[in-house]
Amino acid sequence: MHEMSIALNIIDIVSSQARAEQAQKINQIELEIGELAGIMIDSLEFCFEAASKNTLADGASLSIIRIPGKGICHHCHNEIDVDNFITVCPNCGGFGVEITQGKELKIRSINID
Ligand SMILES: [Zn+2]
Repeated sequence: MHEMSIALNIIDIVSSQARAEQAQKINQIELEIGELAGIMIDSLEFCFEAASKNTLADGASLSIIRIPGKGICHHCHNEIDVDNFITVCPNCGGFGVEITQGKELKIRSINID
C-alpha cells in the first residue's frame, strides 16, 4: 500500500528530528498534501496510526493542509485550476497544461515535547 510507505517515511523523518531535539513525544505533525499527490487522506491517517505504535510519534495527531491543483497552459499561458492529471485548458481547449502546484507532500512542522 502506497500510503503505508508514506506513513513510514513520515514517522522516520519526524522521529529523527524529535530525537535530535531530545523530545519525549511528538504531539502533532502538520503536513501539506496536494490534491494531485494521489494520496488518500483516510488511508494515510489509518496507516499512520498503525505504523506509529511504539514510536515517538505514537498518538500524534496529523494536521493536513490540502494544496489545490494548479497548472499553466502552454498555449494561452493562463493559470488554471487542475483537478486531475489529464487536463484540457478551459480557456483555449489546449492539452499542454503543465502542473505547477498540487503534487506536494511535505512536512510543514512538528510539535514536540
Ligand atoms: Zn490554454
